[in-house]
Amino acid sequence: MRKLRLILGDQLNAKHSWFKQKNKNTIYLMAEMRQETDYVKHHIQKVVAFFISMRNFSEALNKVGHQVIYFKISDNENQHDLEKIITRVISDKKIEKFEYQLPDEYRLDEQLKSICKNLKIESKVYDTEHFYTSRNDLTNFFHGKKILLMENFYRMMRKRHHILVINEQPIGGKWNYDHSNRNKYKGEIAIPKPLSFSKDVLSIVNDIQMADVKTFEEIDAENFPWPTTRKESIELLDYFCTNLLAYFGEYQDALYSEHAYLFHSRLSFAMNSKMISPKEVIDTVITYFNNNQDTIEISQVEGFVRQILGWREYIRGIYWKEMPNYAKMNALDNQNKLPDFFWTGETKMKCMQHAISQSLTEAYAHHIQRLMIIGNFSLLTQIHPDEVDAWYLGVYIDAIEWVEMPNTRGMSQYADGGIIATKPYVSSGSYINKMSNYCSSCHYKVKNKFGENACPFNSLYWNFLDDKREHFKNNQRMNMMMALLNKIKPDELIRIKEKAQYIMENLDSY
Ligand SMILES: Cc1cc2nc3c(=O)[nH]c(=O)nc-3n(C[C@H](O)[C@H](O)[C@H](O)COP(=O)(O)OP(=O)(O)OC[C@H]3O[C@@H](n4cnc5c(N)ncnc54)[C@H](O)[C@@H]3O)c2cc1C
Ligand code: SF4
Repeated sequence: MRKLRLILGDQLNAKHSWFKQKNKNTIYLMAEMRQETDYVKHHIQKVVAFFISMRNFSEALNKVGHQVIYFKISDNENQHDLEKIITRVISDKKIEKFEYQLPDEYRLDEQLKSICKNLKIESKVYDTEHFYTSRNDLTNFFHGKKILLMENFYRMMRKRHHILVINEQPIGGKWNYDHSNRNKYKGEIAIPKPLSFSKDVLSIVNDIQMADVKTFEEIDAENFPWPTTRKESIELLDYFCTNLLAYFGEYQDALYSEHAYLFHSRLSFAMNSKMISPKEVIDTVITYFNNNQDTIEISQVEGFVRQILGWREYIRGIYWKEMPNYAKMNALDNQNKLPDFFWTGETKMKCMQHAISQSLTEAYAHHIQRLMIIGNFSLLTQIHPDEVDAWYLGVYIDAIEWVEMPNTRGMSQYADGGIIATKPYVSSGSYINKMSNYCSSCHYKVKNKFGENACPFNSLYWNFLDDKREHFKNNQRMNMMMALLNKIKPDELIRIKEKAQYIMENLDSY
């Protein structure tokens, strides 16, 4: 039977059972499409990373004898629409059966179901064989529960997969070393130079320009740093184990103006495109830990495992549990517009200037920059979650909706009303000062609430809590914050709110 098998741009899993056997009657189909480049405006580095990884993957399949039909973005015969491309290839190649892997994005899942309905031939869908969990595992695990605590899910995952566990108990005696993961970085340990793959990607940049795809920001096309093959993904993982793991947990939450990556792994793109699997990453890290217990502490390793086995799988489960309604949620009814400086990094706030400029130049920011700087500011200034979502989806190299949206709309903007975060991740300047070296060189004074030079985060923070009182009145986790708010004298609160209002009306001058 002549089969056509579709491989989407984030399904570059060379270990998938599809590829175990070669068959002259099986054709693989890959396409760089305008439908994917245009649904949101993407960073040029993100588009390049996906297309070059797809081309490398298709070449690798060809090399070992699989047949691949590949449409480049600039090919004349590329129809740029999934349904049209599939239908044309089925007809041209006299295909009798169509097969695909479960997409991770709701939009594509719906589209493929509809395409299959319209096809006159049989179709079949396979798992991607990438994640630890299936789409519905989280829904089943939390069945009947009102609160979907990540920690409970994570412990179940540790036990189920026997990870850092002996006799159902955590190695080291604690399930979670979050408290040891909150250190400020003060330059005491040298941060290793990030591993860069320095590739020449000029030809693909030309193809993207020729096709007139609208992207933003810039790329050093002769020194592209991201991994775009399975081999490079494994190299990046090994580099992480050897050079960064020993301090990962300790400085996981640190913010530092001189380094973009600190001790973070930069593995998210390699994993989200599926060039490497979460199981391979975790197994490699744990093997490295077992062989180097004299130099690496359990807290460093647990902190890393929690992100992948816990957060990454949890976020995906929430996405499939809550979509499609999740995409429209705006529980706090935030309506403001994204300021222009999100596209330039031109602001006097050092923390925002650093986090945004880095996001724009590198297509990367680490978790706390995304959550406690950019996300925090967006929430305090009450920006509409649609605008925040679109910005995150376009900017980051690793941004695919299933992982970007619950993190942005849910965890960072509390637009889901507390499905993911039991309370909003907001702070005044004091948290940022505690975790970073930003404030000492900032135009604004972190300790001040009033006056021209007062840190904007301070008045915005109290104003946000006051504005949203009604939403939080039954949230016990907010009691302490609200009690502190209630201690502020009425006339002082009026001044704070006036200041915050002025900032929100003049965001681009801050
Ligand atoms: C507002 C916001 C938006 C985000 N958008 C994305 C996104 O579009 N794509 C994305 O992959 N991650 C996203 N994250 C999660 C996290 O910030 C990134 O995965 C991480 O910064 C990637 O860098 P790294 O590979 O160096 O991570 P490391 O710090 O080295 O962590 C290791 C791995 O853990 C996983 N991980 C860590 N935290 C999370 C999380 N909250 N959710 C899912 N996986 C996690 C990632 O796969 C990451 O590669 C977002 C977080 C926030 C707060
Ligand atoms: S003083 Fe305020 S605005 Fe400046 S870096 Fe610190 S937290 Fe950011």
